[in-house]
Amino acid sequence: MIDRELNPCSDFFQYSCGKWLKANPIPSDQPGWGTFNSLAIWNIAAVRETLEQAAVESNSRTSAEQKIGDYYAACANESAIDQAGLTPLQPMLDRIAQLNDKKQLPELIAYIHQRIRPANLNFIDAQYQGVLFGIYAQPGFDDASVTLAALDQSGMNLPAREFYLKDDAKSKEIRDQYVKHVIRMLELTGELHDKAAADAQAVLAMETALANAAMDIVLRRDPKNQNNKMSLAQVQALTPSFNWTKYFSAMGAPASPQYLVIAPDFFRGMEKLIASQSLDNWRAYLRFSAVHYNAPLLSKAFVEENFDYYGRALNGAQTMQPRARRCSFSADIDLGELVGQAYVARYFPPENKARMLEMVQAIEAALGEDIRNADWMSPQTKKLANEKLAAQIDKIGFPDHWRDYSAVEIRRDDYLGNVQRASAFEIKSRLAKFGKPTDRQEWNMTPPTVNAYEDPPSNTINFPAGILQPPFFESAQIDAVNYGAIGAVIGHEIIHGYDDQGRKFDAHGNLRDWWTLEDAANYDRRDACITDEYTQDVPEAGVKQNGKLSAGEDTADNGGIHIALGGLTNKLKAQGKDLDSLTKDGLTELQTFFLSYAHVWCGQQRPEAARTAVMSQGHSLGRYRVNNVVANMPEFAHAFGCKSGQPMVHENACRVW
Ligand SMILES: [Zn+2]
Repeated sequence: MIDRELNPCSDFFQYSCGKWLKANPIPSDQPGWGTFNSLAIWNIAAVRETLEQAAVESNSRTSAEQKIGDYYAACANESAIDQAGLTPLQPMLDRIAQLNDKKQLPELIAYIHQRIRPANLNFIDAQYQGVLFGIYAQPGFDDASVTLAALDQSGMNLPAREFYLKDDAKSKEIRDQYVKHVIRMLELTGELHDKAAADAQAVLAMETALANAAMDIVLRRDPKNQNNKMSLAQVQALTPSFNWTKYFSAMGAPASPQYLVIAPDFFRGMEKLIASQSLDNWRAYLRFSAVHYNAPLLSKAFVEENFDYYGRALNGAQTMQPRARRCSFSADIDLGELVGQAYVARYFPPENKARMLEMVQAIEAALGEDIRNADWMSPQTKKLANEKLAAQIDKIGFPDHWRDYSAVEIRRDDYLGNVQRASAFEIKSRLAKFGKPTDRQEWNMTPPTVNAYEDPPSNTINFPAGILQPPFFESAQIDAVNYGAIGAVIGHEIIHGYDDQGRKFDAHGNLRDWWTLEDAANYDRRDACITDEYTQDVPEAGVKQNGKLSAGEDTADNGGIHIALGGLTNKLKAQGKDLDSLTKDGLTELQTFFLSYAHVWCGQQRPEAARTAVMSQGHSLGRYRVNNVVANMPEFAHAFGCKSGQPMVHENACRVW
């Protein structure tokens, strides 16, 4: 697929991906398209097959098949859903309409929280998306062996805090469109236009107040800023107008030894909002939030209006994905470990797991060597870094123990109800962890997911079966291909444990400064090189990237490919080969490795989606994940004969790991 008319030393992304991009235009129902997306669509098609088979009613269905099959059937029955209109959500809207004293807010918020899908939190900098505030279980920062209740900022229905606060023309346009969207949604619930228009202004004002009170996205990246342990009385003192005892009791939450208040200022802001906003405005905010979160589960008018704003305006997609695919994704969210079992049985044989584990261990060993050879670290810090590496748990493919969903009732004629009951089940199991020993074996991603994560408090790296497929991993491929693709992903996740966030957690997952002052200063100096390099214009997004926001991901990319290459080097050595040896394609092993790396990141985004991504999350776009990384590597210059002065050879090459 490479474009031999281009020079790899000028633009390696274009050289490796240009032809792929031409051959793979963005489908009309997608905000962007790359190798990740096409694999995700392939995986979800496999899931869909399982769901469709299970949806056929018969007496021989197992209870698991009944659940996933009826869940799918209920979602796929669009005409019944259209006919029901707003009815399934009416009880929640009625509860909100009955709010006539702000003292009732704790019970009302608990009622809503128990019925809306809780956000999935995999990274400590992820923004929690939920109504008013977020509640979840998180290992303590000071003692990760015990899980605590965490209370976090949330309540903003635009993708990130910055969307409310930025003053440029594009941001204003997005907010104007948002107000129009809120008006149309409220009208769909039966409000008259004038009332809906006034309510929409109140919604924007209240969410803007929450955004102002919320912690900045870059400050959030420093775990120290999140480590605010409080007693229940201290939490109560932050928000005197919101009775937390009533809230937790309505949630059925056990007491937590302490409460992690991730962003205390946010809760001070919430207090002001309770004191200052009218009951009418609170009803408007909660009414819109309820409809917003449930819109994809309701009739066509709601689904389409929701897509028009979040799909079209914010992400540039033109058409909706087919309903069967949306229902399969939905089943994956709500019944993930039940739906994922068949996927694993068919597409992730034990020999793949064994080969993956071998690669993970080879790449961990390469980081061990790197640490040993680092001339910028003292023996004391090296010793603790190695202890952390040795204590890491590698989780591959799927959980050892599948989750038991028998408590979740799934009905064939009640899509919204199914989602509510699955959400209640999920919330309940999260709350049950308060005060309990941390379970390091648990997964935050479902098996068909095309992604991976590192989790600092549990000191684990996690690779769902969904990403252990071609072109990331293929048992028939040579090592250079697998190490360049999934190997770099493995390296990326391992390095997260040693990036600017991860390095602050020790072997036990505790937030503890185990670096000597001098080593930490050396780290920061090396890290600043990366931060400066990635503080760059991103013309395709129309905004500038903030290298401080993406620092962790960029460090993981640069270090990840480095240790993947270390793993490959050792592997080849054991076979009597080296990186310059030729493969049967006539390329060197090293060229093959870099081309495989680039191939994983082939992809493009619509301008709207690129802008939303650069502003709201920490990953660099694919083009930069390739070009910035290889230009920091002398091994790349060696592979393709690049000379200093060429774009893919950085004069000031950055290296942390
Ligand atoms: Zn990452």
